[in-house]
Amino acid sequence: MKTIAADVVVIGAGIAGASAGAALAESHKVVVLEREAFPGMHSTGRSAALFSEIYGSGPIRALSRASRDFLYSPPEGFAAAPIVHPRGALHIASPAQMAKLDAFCALADVAPSIRRLTAAEARAQCSVLRPDYVAGAALETGSADVDVDVLHQGWLRQLKARGGEVIVNAEVVRLSRSKAGWRVETPDLQIDAATVVNAAGAWADAIAGLAGVAPVGLQPNRRTALIVAAPEGSNSDEWPMVIDVDEQFYFRPDAGALLLSPGDETPTDPCDAQPDEWDVATAIDRVQTATTLQVHRVRRSWAGLRSFVADRSPVVGYAPDAPGFFWLAGQGGYGIQTAPAMGELACALVRGEPTPENLLRFGVEARDLRPDRFTESRATVQAD
Ligand SMILES: Cc1cc2nc3c(=O)[nH]c(=O)nc-3n(C[C@H](O)[C@H](O)[C@H](O)COP(=O)(O)OP(=O)(O)OC[C@H]3O[C@@H](n4cnc5c(N)ncnc54)[C@H](O)[C@@H]3O)c2cc1C
Repeated sequence: MKTIAADVVVIGAGIAGASAGAALAESHKVVVLEREAFPGMHSTGRSAALFSEIYGSGPIRALSRASRDFLYSPPEGFAAAPIVHPRGALHIASPAQMAKLDAFCALADVAPSIRRLTAAEARAQCSVLRPDYVAGAALETGSADVDVDVLHQGWLRQLKARGGEVIVNAEVVRLSRSKAGWRVETPDLQIDAATVVNAAGAWADAIAGLAGVAPVGLQPNRRTALIVAAPEGSNSDEWPMVIDVDEQFYFRPDAGALLLSPGDETPTDPCDAQPDEWDVATAIDRVQTATTLQVHRVRRSWAGLRSFVADRSPVVGYAPDAPGFFWLAGQGGYGIQTAPAMGELACALVRGEPTPENLLRFGVEARDLRPDRFTESRATVQAD
């Protein structure tokens, strides 16, 4: 079997592994191992591609704010096309959901990014909203559609230009301690490296298991999306993304058609997620209840995994129980929009450096993301 040496082995070539790998390749010899035949086959290639600074937990919102500059103004030569295309996000509430909308809009870091709209103003943004359904809304104007492929390929290219390597069809099947730090094995290859970055998405706890590292309690949840025709003669390309304030559904224009989701979160084992007919029907039913849209045919549907730990914030940092084993997991439904800041933070922490100043000023705190927050809370429960 071929044996090679590297400074850092990254497991997983999704958006997380690509962003961190590219950043680390500036100073380290990086090898990224991907089980599938091409990078991006799992969550990264299946997202709804929203960038929003008010979506997700507090730490997620901070990471998203810190990612904005990169997404809107990437470094010279990084991307062949724009990464983001501005599109508002309209958070809507029915009469029964108005208290929820008010509470959401009152959050200190949400309020400056939104404008409250009346029901009539919301319908002016998206003409198909039913007058008897929508009672009020909040419009985020700084949100955008992300071209995930442009972003992902940008990092993969940057990684290679910096001397890094992506090896596909390379499933990590064994991890053991070695003189260098870790020996990482695939069926055809073994690599010795000081550091292993666990960016295996829904499989991150399984990778920890191979290394004998305590899991962080990652739960993959299936989410469904489908494409249907946009109403003929409408200006649907100009609509914002419309999101139910309880995330029971959302829809947005997608290349002349509409992307719908029921906002499902079905717990599942890590897998190649497939859409369930019930979830597809639920998306259609919920969107038809809130709008005058009539869905006659589903052009395409898919599902992907959004993997969360208990507090729904990512896990970034060295494992407390295994030197050189670095977690980069738990991105949930926000791994695209947070990837620039996550990659930069992961790179700094792998190198043993403090959180970069340009992340701190947006409120990114490495301690909110530390892997040992789980072991600490377990210890507190036991002590009580
Ligand atoms: C329907 C849907 C909508 C979403 N919408 C948004 C959105 O609007 N905005 C947003 O920011 N995010 C969104 N997300 C979330 C986003 O897609 C994820 O957070 C992100 O893609 C996670 O990236 P990742 O690199 O961690 O995981 P992945 O892309 O899953 O990559 C992990 C990789 O690790 C590889 N791997 C696993 N085990 C091994 C092994 N043993 N050896 C080698 N390789 C291995 C896998 O093959 C995989 O390619 C959405 C997700 C879904 C499913």
